[in-house]
Amino acid sequence: MRESCDILIIGGGVVGCSVAFHLTQFGRTDVLVVERDFLASGATGRCGGGIRAQWSTEGNIKLAQHSIKEFENFKEITGAEIQFRQGGYLLPAYTQEMVEQFKQNVSLQNKHGVPSRLISPEEVAEIVPLMNRSEILAATFCPTDGVANPFLVTDGYANAARRKGARFLLRRSVVGFRTSGSRVQTAILDDGTEIDCSLVLNAAGAWAGEVTKLLGTEIPVTPYRHQILVTEPLEIIHRPMVIDLYHNIYFSQSEEGGFITGQTDEDEKPSFNMMNSWRFVVEISRKLLYHYPCLRKVNVLRQWAGLYAVTPDAQPILGRVNEYENFFCATGWSGHGFMISPAVGKIMAELFVFGRPKTLSIEEYSIERFKKGEFIREKSVV
Ligand SMILES: Cc1cc2nc3c(=O)[nH]c(=O)nc-3n(C[C@H](O)[C@H](O)[C@H](O)COP(=O)(O)OP(=O)(O)OC[C@H]3O[C@@H](n4cnc5c(N)ncnc54)[C@H](O)[C@@H]3O)c2cc1C
Repeated sequence: MRESCDILIIGGGVVGCSVAFHLTQFGRTDVLVVERDFLASGATGRCGGGIRAQWSTEGNIKLAQHSIKEFENFKEITGAEIQFRQGGYLLPAYTQEMVEQFKQNVSLQNKHGVPSRLISPEEVAEIVPLMNRSEILAATFCPTDGVANPFLVTDGYANAARRKGARFLLRRSVVGFRTSGSRVQTAILDDGTEIDCSLVLNAAGAWAGEVTKLLGTEIPVTPYRHQILVTEPLEIIHRPMVIDLYHNIYFSQSEEGGFITGQTDEDEKPSFNMMNSWRFVVEISRKLLYHYPCLRKVNVLRQWAGLYAVTPDAQPILGRVNEYENFFCATGWSGHGFMISPAVGKIMAELFVFGRPKTLSIEEYSIERFKKGEFIREKSVV
């Protein structure tokens, strides 16, 4: 079978769907999203749904700030309800070094209009009265940070894009390309379908490196399993998302009352493994109990795993990655792609429609930075 489209997007996660939506907003409606499974079946549907502007680098602060505005107005923009709840993000500091770093972060964030602030242990007590605060020296808090439902966001973008004419082909993988000179001309699917297109966006998340390899190019995006669990529902005792970089754990309590928590496992090896492990349940339970000893008798309801698409500086790769002038990547989120997907969707759409992004520059996210060795590592990742 032979098909054609103007812009082909590989990957129906939140990023692919956001780019498709923003393209249709600019009048580019001949868009086809090819997804190997169902929409949000990759990292998106497995993520914590956290959204914050409390970052240590200017780029992430700007991407998040822009995205939070879109999350706040999502219903008006796309027509979809996404359960966006702004309970704030609280980042506790346990050492003087962390306090100093957090002061710098807040000052940079405030410069860009983020209403974050450094707060005392007494103020922490007002926000999370039942949490263990015995060793906290200070914390940062930003009330506009929050959480949203990743499935509703992805569907919201996809449905709005569909209404304008974008198409979605599910349960089909891109398995190859045909090229001519410096252009990718055709994508080949697993059922033999050939899709002629004028532009390709690789939005395949942690699998983006595999897709790029089909063109003979390696990109520094490594898949790492990240596990997460939710407890049975309880009375609401905790509002914000807590990112504890010292003990390496994040947790929030959902509207339904379950505590959702995860960590970065330093011993995890790169892989596409998405199985659960018992070790994770033991480790994360110990850490959560440090913060909330009162959860000792609470049952774990469900655990699952997904993949981070990790780059050497924990920053995304946006733009061209090889000699093919019409082949682009948007990947390498290193654990925070959901929260910046609105800005990324708009920027990539602007790049394709106007030839350059208008909302924010993506120069610092060029793959060239790794060749030049010129990059700044994001410090606030978990
Ligand atoms: C446990 C966990 C917690 C997280 N928590 C947060 C959080 O709180 N906040 C946050 O911002 N981010 C979080 N993240 C990160 C976030 O989930 C990702 O950065 C984001 O979802 C990436 O979206 P994506 O669309 O690029 O990738 P994905 O959602 O992975 O989508 C890529 C899609 O491409 C498809 N695909 C792959 N190869 C092919 C192919 N050859 N052909 C067709 N389709 C293909 C896959 O099936 C997949 O659906 C978390 C991630 C995990 C795993």
